Amino acid sequence: MGVPIAGGYGKEWGNGDPRNERYRCSVWIETEKTSVIIDTGPEFRLQTIRSGIEKVDLVLITHEHMDHVAGLDDLRAYNYVQKSSIPLYTSKKVSEEIKNRFRYMFGPNKYPGSTSVDIKVIDSAVEFRDLTITPLHYNHGSIDVQGYRVNDFSYMTDVKSIPEETKDLVRDSKVLVLSGLRWNPPHPTHLTIPEAVEIANELKIPKTYLIHMNAYVEHASTNEKLPPHVQLAYDMQEIFIGENIN
Ligand SMILES: [Zn+2]
Ligand SMILES: [Zn+2]
Repeated sequence: MGVPIAGGYGKEWGNGDPRNERYRCSVWIETEKTSVIIDTGPEFRLQTIRSGIEKVDLVLITHEHMDHVAGLDDLRAYNYVQKSSIPLYTSKKVSEEIKNRFRYMFGPNKYPGSTSVDIKVIDSAVEFRDLTITPLHYNHGSIDVQGYRVNDFSYMTDVKSIPEETKDLVRDSKVLVLSGLRWNPPHPTHLTIPEAVEIANELKIPKTYLIHMNAYVEHASTNEKLPPHVQLAYDMQEIFIGENIN
């Protein structure tokens, strides 16, 4: 829901620390050759402005919930500048959800000037320029979600449980981003923070960052309770993954 949530509720937990203000989750992956966005939530436009994202070569979408797709319309700015349609990779089910929900962007009656994306359904690893993109299938309560491994970086948001075969695909990543909604109690569709730590430990990833925390998770005091290799992420955080990175 973002933090604070609509109406300003949850503001009292902020303590003036900017890390306690959270837009909906998204990540920008930039390599020498390629600029990739995972998920376009309701604040996508604002995120691109504050991060200075001038080009988008590829969009990866995890699932159909509005906190992950509501900003799709704002991709049209990149269509105008890049003068081309933008590839969008996702699962079969989510591709159908997107076409339904954003019907004006697709088909013979496409509204002039609306976002142009070339949807490609991916179910196994594909190459895109200098990237190997591997879909990561897992459960989010009553629906399934497709996270992504991009080279040595794995991104799984809105996780409730992860099947063994997906864990195997993630295992030797250098960095994992994983969702953890709150400290307790257990939630029907999301991992709690302690449950996410357990998965990070099991997979032995050198560094795991937690995302998708709710308004009751205070950044600094929660991080103090976490092991050094599992920390809360914050908006605008930059992570470098290269040859010599630890
Ligand atoms: Zn969701
Ligand atoms: Zn979500």
